[in-house]
Amino acid sequence: MPPTADSPPPKPLIVVEGVNKHFGAAHVLRDVSTRFYEGHVAVIIGASGSGKSTFLRTLNRLEKHGSGRIVVDGIELNDSVKNLDAIRREVGMVFQQFNLFPHLTVLENITLAPRRVRKTPRKQAQEAAFELLTRVGMKDHAHKYPHQLSGGQQQRVAIARSLAMQPKVLLFDEPTSALDPEMINEVLDVMKDIARSGMTMIVVTHEMRFAREVGDRILFFDQGTLLQEAPPDEFFDRQHNERIRGFLGQLA
Ligand code: ADP
Ligand code: MG
Repeated sequence: MPPTADSPPPKPLIVVEGVNKHFGAAHVLRDVSTRFYEGHVAVIIGASGSGKSTFLRTLNRLEKHGSGRIVVDGIELNDSVKNLDAIRREVGMVFQQFNLFPHLTVLENITLAPRRVRKTPRKQAQEAAFELLTRVGMKDHAHKYPHQLSGGQQQRVAIARSLAMQPKVLLFDEPTSALDPEMINEVLDVMKDIARSGMTMIVVTHEMRFAREVGDRILFFDQGTLLQEAPPDEFFDRQHNERIRGFLGQLA
């Protein structure tokens, strides 16, 4: 929406400029430039192998990028360890495979990073964890271990764990792709709730209904190139790019 007197223009939280990335001879990110705005939800879609995960992982430096610049909340992503620590605090990530610590309870999974990294006192970390567990509908499972939970429940705990660090932005890499169909909605509902609370989110997903409903903007990756970014109605209803039309047609 165009800024008006009473709505200040959104602030770009992440700036990506001319980013390239190679794995050996493979050129997997090709001159990618974009911005992610505070409080907005960006949805990334594209075929398998198009570079979606690699792109997401460069945003919290799980992968180093090659040429180009990535600046997250004013912090330039480079080899500075100080910057890396700051980035890991500010950019949370939710993975396809949940990645909970199997030997820790739900409560311990959530309180670990706040206690170690943010030095939050135990009692305070636990209180915050119970609030987050309530929010994701998992309060009654605080003392269970991950293997005692369904995939959907584990993913909701993983989301609570990311939120516990109070990140400025949350990245999701196909958070429902490993789930049985009946569990997908319970996770998408939690994500919708977080989006409504104003969290800045970048979500790689194949869930087109979620993309349309929750996304402020759709980014389409094609062979390492950010081929198009557009608001959902324009992207889905007035799509003129043949390649993207083909991709969307396959899903329908
Ligand atoms: P997507 O998430 O869209 O499926 P990826 O970002 O996982 O795509 O992969 C993009 C390309 O980079 C693919 O060709 C993939 O095989 C390659 N790739 C991804 N990770 C690595 C890696 N660690 N080493 C070598 N090649 C990789
Ligand atoms: Mg991927």
